[in-house]
Amino acid sequence: MYLKSLELSGFKSFAKKAAITFTTPITGVVGPNGSGKSNTAEAFRFVLGEQSIKSLRGKRGEDMIWNGGGDGTSGAGRANRASVKLTFDNRTKLFPAIDFEEVTLERVVHRDNSNEYLLNGSQVRLKDIVELLASAHIGATGHHIISQGEADRILSASIRERREMIEDALGLKIHQWKKTESLRKLERTAENMKQVESLRREIAPHLKFLKKQVEKVEKAELLRCELIELYTEYFAEEEAYLQSEKLRISQALDGPERELASLDRELERAKKILTDSKNKDEKSHEVIELEEKLKSLRGEQDTVVREIGRLEGEINASTRAVAKEEARVKDEGLRIVYLKDVDALVREVESLSQINEVGKLFAAVMDALHGFVARHHTHTDSSFVTGMGEEIARLAAERTKLEQRRGSLASDEARLIQNYEDLKQKIEREKDTNREAEKDVFRIIARQNEVRAVVGTLRSAAAERDRAEESFKRELGEAAAVAGREAVAYASGGDRQPADRRRQSERRMKIERNKIRLEDAGGSGGAEVVKEFKETEERDRFLVNELKDLEAAKAELVKLIADLDARIDYEFRNGIFKINAEFQRFFSLMFGGGRAELVVVREPQRRRRSEAEDLSVMLATGPADMTAAPDHGEPDGDDGPEGLEVNVSLPRKKVKGLMMLSGGERALTSIALLFAVSQVNPPPFIILDETDAALDEANSKKYGDMIENLSKHSQLILITHNRETMSRAGVLYGVTMGSDGASRLLSIAFEEAVNVAK
Ligand code: ATP
Repeated sequence: MYLKSLELSGFKSFAKKAAITFTTPITGVVGPNGSGKSNTAEAFRFVLGEQSIKSLRGKRGEDMIWNGGGDGTSGAGRANRASVKLTFDNRTKLFPAIDFEEVTLERVVHRDNSNEYLLNGSQVRLKDIVELLASAHIGATGHHIISQGEADRILSASIRERREMIEDALGLKIHQWKKTESLRKLERTAENMKQVESLRREIAPHLKFLKKQVEKVEKAELLRCELIELYTEYFAEEEAYLQSEKLRISQALDGPERELASLDRELERAKKILTDSKNKDEKSHEVIELEEKLKSLRGEQDTVVREIGRLEGEINASTRAVAKEEARVKDEGLRIVYLKDVDALVREVESLSQINEVGKLFAAVMDALHGFVARHHTHTDSSFVTGMGEEIARLAAERTKLEQRRGSLASDEARLIQNYEDLKQKIEREKDTNREAEKDVFRIIARQNEVRAVVGTLRSAAAERDRAEESFKRELGEAAAVAGREAVAYASGGDRQPADRRRQSERRMKIERNKIRLEDAGGSGGAEVVKEFKETEERDRFLVNELKDLEAAKAELVKLIADLDARIDYEFRNGIFKINAEFQRFFSLMFGGGRAELVVVREPQRRRRSEAEDLSVMLATGPADMTAAPDHGEPDGDDGPEGLEVNVSLPRKKVKGLMMLSGGERALTSIALLFAVSQVNPPPFIILDETDAALDEANSKKYGDMIENLSKHSQLILITHNRETMSRAGVLYGVTMGSDGASRLLSIAFEEAVNVAK
């Protein structure tokens, strides 16, 4: 027993609150025509969420509301709302998802046609009601509520509708919902996949571009690392070399310089003797004069050498600047030319069209082209190169002059020294008084020559070292600019001993080559590109994963749908098999024999013939053709959706097929089918509104027997005028309608019911 009570208030003819309580397996509802019996059956449909107001015999929701009645004086005024409340006993978990022992569904409709649904007093959505009912096998097609005159609906329905009714009755709807939902999800998944794929397609070219950039950056980075290694090694070596050179030269210079100083002092002393000497002779005078000449000559020699050094430094710097500029100009081939300039060139060439001699025209065009190219070379830059070239030439000329001067000074010196030699020998011969001092001067000058040569070599070595130091400093700056600060973070200091200079110059060359390659590879840097690449790659990876997830979800859905299909198919065929057994049993019980069955057929793809067409076919070819049912049209193939056909043949009668049945026979057949279905998968309750109207006395009895049988599994509410049916009910309700047009409900005894029904 699942139903507890039905409460109507303001619903249709039930102006005032009225209730039926269900205390027995069969409840009968009786009353005269028009008293409101069918309204109670409709109240069931209404509260269970029926959306077709037409099937509730109304046009709008408002038609469900008590609209006043009677002669207008005694009738109650119209109501503002209609409400129906249906209470279930949930102690046996009819609704598995609900923990309460009692479940009350209520639907309210207002005058503005709005609806409210309440579950145990709380507002819910219609969807919740539909799902809840499906879980209790109270289907949406209302196969268990047979309205008045609808008994043979299952027979007159199309094969597809019939299949739907049976599926619903078999409780397959819940699987079908799941399937529909899965199909919808599948569609959404496919859409999402498409979206993700298109997003991936969108970023693919950018990703490819970034990847190439990053490869370039990585290559440059590799070159930069190599360069850093070369630089650090080079700088460490260079620094060690410069330091050791400095030390070596200053140590080497120390002795000779000191010696020169002391020679100077000695010379002064000797000269003083000669100058102070009383018997100063001709020779001493000559010695001093010669010495002074030599001294000034040497002074000038030193100046010239220093000046040559300075010039060499300047020439070096200028040569480097020129080389740099030339390298820059070499890149001019890639210079971008403005379109407006090209346009001007085109106009210029066009203007030459009046020249009609080919040779001249060619020459003129070539002139124009050369002019164009020349105009687009960097004049300022080449003038810089030229200017520098001139400067270098000037410096070189100056240097040559100085070299010459040095040469002539050297020969002057040689001459003076020769003079000395001569003088020295003369003094040796003549043995003058100042001989010793004079000899000293000679000795000192000779020694000075030797020492000065050593010092000169050392000083030019020092100058060369200083220049090397300068370019070392410049290279440090350059390295930091080209390869970053790491390039100048070499191991400084320590006691590194400089090695072979040849290896260092090899390193130098390698560095130059590497620098060019690094510049060709786009230089160092590119952190931004790498970052963007990583981000884009990350996004792509994310999309790939998402795609994988979606694919997995899709596969899962496809499998779920296949499983559901298999399950629906199996349960459907199994259900049909069971229904057929019951159908045959009920049918032969009703008709005393004969055959009846449901047959699964495929709906023809193109179109089906209507029953009227069936009839015309039959009239044309004779009834024998109809025996071949299932026969609504010729199938064009078996790929249409499946439907259900009803095959019947009556005992002792030749005719077969539904069309041949009388009204009563048709009613009996549909009852047999309805009962068979209800027997196989019993719904919690069944409402039958005058299903028994067409039955004669004998069949009413059989109907009564079947009802009793059904009531073992489903609770029955029977609206009837039939005395036999009334006699099977445990409780009877009478519906009456007064002059106010309002229906009333009251529990009555069987005898009373028989009277009321009349
Ligand atoms: P029958 O035995 O002839 O089938 P019944 O007892 O099933 O009759 P119903 O069809 O349930 O009778 O009741 C119909 C009655 O309900 C009609 O008199 C109709 O006027 C009344 N009715 C329907 N809707 C409303 C409404 N909104 N307001 C007032 N009365 C209504």
